[in-house]
Amino acid sequence: MIERILGPIRLRRIQRAFRHSAVTVLCLFLTVVVLRGTVGAGKFGTPEQDFKEIRDHFSSRGRRVEPRRVLEEVQPETTDKPADQSNNYATFDISKILVDEGEDEKPDPSKPYSLGPKISDWDQQRAEWLKNNPDFPNFIGPNKPRVLLVTGSSPKPCENPVGDHYLLKSIKNKIDYCRLHGIEIFYNMALLDAEMAGFWAKLPLIRKLLLSHPEVEFLWWMDSDAMFTDMAFEVPWERYKDHNFVMHGWNEMIYDQKNWIGLNTGSFLLRNCQWSLDILDAWAPMGPKGKIRDEAGKILTRELKGRPVFEADDQSAMVYLLATQRDQWGNKVYLENGYYLHGYWGILVDRYEEMIENHHPGLGDHRWPLVTHFVGCKPCGKFGDYPVERCLKQMDRAYNFGDNQILQIYGFTHKSLASRRVKRVRNETSNPLEVKDELGLLHPAFKAVKVSSSS
Ligand code: UDP
Ligand code: MN
Repeated sequence: MIERILGPIRLRRIQRAFRHSAVTVLCLFLTVVVLRGTVGAGKFGTPEQDFKEIRDHFSSRGRRVEPRRVLEEVQPETTDKPADQSNNYATFDISKILVDEGEDEKPDPSKPYSLGPKISDWDQQRAEWLKNNPDFPNFIGPNKPRVLLVTGSSPKPCENPVGDHYLLKSIKNKIDYCRLHGIEIFYNMALLDAEMAGFWAKLPLIRKLLLSHPEVEFLWWMDSDAMFTDMAFEVPWERYKDHNFVMHGWNEMIYDQKNWIGLNTGSFLLRNCQWSLDILDAWAPMGPKGKIRDEAGKILTRELKGRPVFEADDQSAMVYLLATQRDQWGNKVYLENGYYLHGYWGILVDRYEEMIENHHPGLGDHRWPLVTHFVGCKPCGKFGDYPVERCLKQMDRAYNFGDNQILQIYGFTHKSLASRRVKRVRNETSNPLEVKDELGLLHPAFKAVKVSSSS
């Protein structure tokens, strides 16, 4: 193993040295010739293992790939290359390779929209499965349900390459939180149902995942534009033992005011049970794009407080559903505002320094928000509802705020919330396992991992 790591490193250094001048191209060529000669004759003066590696390296990769690469770097790009042979990623038109085969499945206008075949005995089916599969328990510790965090983005690249960079930061942020808390992740980029494009895409996806993962007790949907800003906060699962659907929101704003921002559907928890399949069915009818979604948008704008004029969205539809059918759904819906399961970025991002000054991770609320959600920024689209500069700058700050809690575990921190660069906060030690947990971050991290591995 050690040799397998050392070998390529040594070789990489050699390669780097070679690349520096055109003369070395010749050297490389000669070296290959010499090496091949000596290897064949078995007369090289290094240990046999090294020898074999050098030979493998040069014969499988170096000989064919590296010299060619060096030669091409030396030659200036010729202007008479056909356009479709260009090596330049910056000028390549990506739409050339984004071919869509065939038409989308056309919906049957005579049938009302449905997320899938009616299922009415999911609780029994799932209970039976759990009984037969004791190796995949739906609880991985006392009061610790097995959770699947689900997020995703459009199958196409963002309208601007910067958008894809922020999607990457956002999934890296979620991976970190989930690793620390023993949560699994599913990232979706497929549009499972063409009618439910955009913010409605999560509905068919969630249904599919609930049915395919009976071992999962709670599914946690999180938008791609939402980031964890408290890496230490553990969701108070026990609090939801009698509920199936947890969203950030306020009862009065939903049931009394029918306010369209009385809850947020950018980060929510949904239990894997029949009730959840039923509410998905009740939630979906305003989703199909085109006339249905447009007409439903008019109803929602008319019926809900503060809603602008636009097509039906999943959040407004949920507010409307709860406000008009409270008796049917209300008792299993928990509108959480004790911590930020979703936190609107506008009221949080300017206070990060103050939070660092006065508080510590693990609180999850206004003192150290669990989630900062960049509602309306649309970094992957062409236009958002806010100035791009503020959105991107604040997304970076939120990312670094969360990332600092990860880096600190390893003895680093960002130089400032605005900086991609990092500095050391702990010196290297010859006793790495005796690092003191000054920030209290290692503790919840290890505890969470222990819980999941003890299952
Ligand atoms: N989304 C998706 N596929 C798409 C478009 C959107 O999965 O084709 C997801 C993505 O995670 C996004 C979420 O739907 O974050 C909701 O959209 P957005 O966050 O832009 O809405 P906002 O929170 O601003 O209302
Ligand atoms: Mn969002």
